[in-house]
Order: sequence, then structure tokens, then C-alpha cells
Amino acid sequence: MTEVTLITGDGIGPEIAEAARRCIDATKAGIKWNVAEAGIDVMDRLGTPLPDETIESVKRTGIALKAPITTPVGTGFRSINVHLRQIFELYVCLRPCKTYKGVRSKYSDIDLLIVRENTEDLYAGIEYEKGKDDTAELISWLNKHSKRQITSDSGISIKPISVHGTERIVKFAFDYARKNGRKKVTSVHKANIMKFTDGLWLDVSRQVAKNYPDIEFEDRIVDNMCMQLIQKPELYDVIVLPNLYGDILSDLCAGLVGGLGVAPGANIGEKGAIFEATHGSAPRYKGQNKVNPIALILSGVLMLRHMDKMAEADKLENAIAAIIAEGKYVTYDLKDDRNDPTAVGTSEMADAIIAKIKNS
Ligand code: NAD
Repeated sequence: MTEVTLITGDGIGPEIAEAARRCIDATKAGIKWNVAEAGIDVMDRLGTPLPDETIESVKRTGIALKAPITTPVGTGFRSINVHLRQIFELYVCLRPCKTYKGVRSKYSDIDLLIVRENTEDLYAGIEYEKGKDDTAELISWLNKHSKRQITSDSGISIKPISVHGTERIVKFAFDYARKNGRKKVTSVHKANIMKFTDGLWLDVSRQVAKNYPDIEFEDRIVDNMCMQLIQKPELYDVIVLPNLYGDILSDLCAGLVGGLGVAPGANIGEKGAIFEATHGSAPRYKGQNKVNPIALILSGVLMLRHMDKMAEADKLENAIAAIIAEGKYVTYDLKDDRNDPTAVGTSEMADAIIAKIKNS
């Protein structure tokens, strides 16, 4: 048995976590679940939304399946998701975007994998607020050393992109492509304008690509990439991007394949891997056995592949695809009419997937 931490989350989290756990167990993947709490539901009782036992569990197992967690507003607690990312140095954000027959989408035959760098770029959190002393000091230094002059009423965000950070994410994209039978990696940038950050990203991408002659490599400028993804998404395979472009294009691609209900994800690093749906805790549906569990179950498929349990992952993905394609035992959001009375609940959709696995 392999130990995996199951973080049940809050809002709709516990319902979809239970559905995902049952479906994964039906594949006989040999997982021993270590159930751990996090989220606003435990905050009053334990004084923190992210208990030490939960962090310790992930440190021990190295792998977690995580249901969504609400980011409490105005309580002084920072985002648990960001906190976990920092503790476990989760430098990869993986977002597969695939069309499944039966999910409403303008496109068919899309099978993209977005690999987003998670730690650098404008999202590194190095920011200087307008009017502050340190901002004035920075502006004065920049004005002294640059031909361009920055006015004193400016706020400043810094965009660091390093050789190390780029090398490890591009290498991850190529290794993932090789392990999962993918044919091509596209590196996205704006190197024509930002020569010392995106230019570095492109140079390093090209260097790394030389070590993978079996995988095709190409690069695209980010604005062109957006248009290409709308016009001919079927031309792309694995797409590797710096943090900001990755954030935007992940959502663009989720939109191409039918939205949040079917968008799985993973955050992977050297110290651990956390698999989670792209959507949030949808608090207004809490406890209603109503929402779609597919995004978290598909995150479980990604997790099984990460654990080299390829046959179990295929079995689970095929069962999910069959249930969505049949369109009978699906939640309201996958019906043509969202008020369709034949829509089933979260746990009944999981039951149908489990029955499909057992008959496969
Ligand atoms: P959300 O994704 O929770 O909900 C937006 C809407 O999407 C919902 O009203 C619902 O209509 C729909 N939806 C989401 N998941 C669905 C599902 N499984 N099945 C059917 N419909 C679904 O986004 P939000 O309302 O912006 O965020 C709610 C909370 O979740 C916030 O506190 C936010 O910070 C948090 N959040 C957490 C994560 C995470 O844990 N990784 C990710 C995103 C948001």
C-alpha cells in the first residue's frame, strides 16, 4: 500500500473528496489514505486553517489529493493554497485541458497540457507601493541608472526570471512529455520585448530542448499563442510558460474544453506533489450533494500517473469519459438544461463511475 494524504477541504470539499476517494479505490490502486483537515471549518476549533498535522502528513507521504479550501477574507490568514505551495516548493502547476465527449464545448479533439512555472515572474510578490519610502529609493536608483524615467507616483512590481527556475520547469515539461507519450513542447514568451527576462526564458528553453531530440520543440510569442489556441488548438500538445502567461492561458484553455467542472490540476515540486481541482470551494452548494466531482477525480487520474500507476489511471479516466459521454448519471452542470430533473448528485455520479470500473 502507498500512503497518500487526503485533504478534505471545506465548502463542497468533503463531498467531492469522498467521491474521488471511492472512485480511486475502485481501481484497486493500493492507496492507504491519510485523511487530514484544512480550511475554514477547522479554524474555530484549531485556531488555524492549516493544522501542523496536515503539513506533517504531506511531508511524510509526499503526495496529497486536496479538495478546495476557502480563502478567508479579512481574517489575517493568508491563502492556504499559496502557503502549501511555498512550504513544499511546488514549482510546477500542471493543467491538462482535454475535451470529453458529452461536455459542452465549441471544440473537439483538444488534448493540451499546460505546464506553468509557479514561483517566479511578476507573481514572485516583490512589490513596491506608490508613495512609500523604499519605493522612492528604488525609483531614484532606477532613474539614475536608466534612460527611461519613472514618475514618483508609480507603484512597482518586479519580474524575476532565473536560469535555474526556467531550466527546471522546461526540463519538467520535456520529461513529462517523454513519460506520457507526448510529441511536442511549445515554450511561450514575449522575448521580443522583455529581452532579459523572457529572452533568458527562451534561450534556456532552447538549451534544454537540445537534450530531448525525440520531442519536437517550438516557441511562440504569447499574444500569437492566444490567437492560435482559439483558431487551431489541435496543433498544440505540451505548452510551457512563465507564471503570469501560464495563469492566463490555463483559464483560456479550461474555457476551450468546457470550463471549471472538468478542469483538473496539480502542483508539483521537489518536496511533494499536491493534486487538486481548478475550481474553488463553491460554498453556496455546500452539503447539497449537487456539484460535479469530475475535476477532483481527474486530478486523481493525474495523481495515479504521477505514482506510475498507469493502468489504474487509464481505467479511471476511461470510466469517467464513458459516464460523461452517456450523459445519464451526470450532475446538473453536465446536462443540456441545468434544471433537468434527471441530473444525479455528487455521490450517485461517483457510484456510476465505480460501476463502470467494476464492469471494465
Ligand atoms: P468557485 O470555483 O468555488 O465557484 C464558482 C462557481 O463555479 C460556483 O458558484 C459554481 O457555480 C461553479 N462551480 C465550481 N465548482 C463546481 C463544481 N464542482 N460543480 C459544479 N459547479 C461548480 O469559485 P469562487 O466562488 O471564486 O471561490 C470560492 C472560494 O474558493 C474562495 O474562497 C476562493 O478563494 C476559493 N478557491 C479555492 C481554490 C483551491 O482550493 N484551490 C481554488 C479557487 C478558489
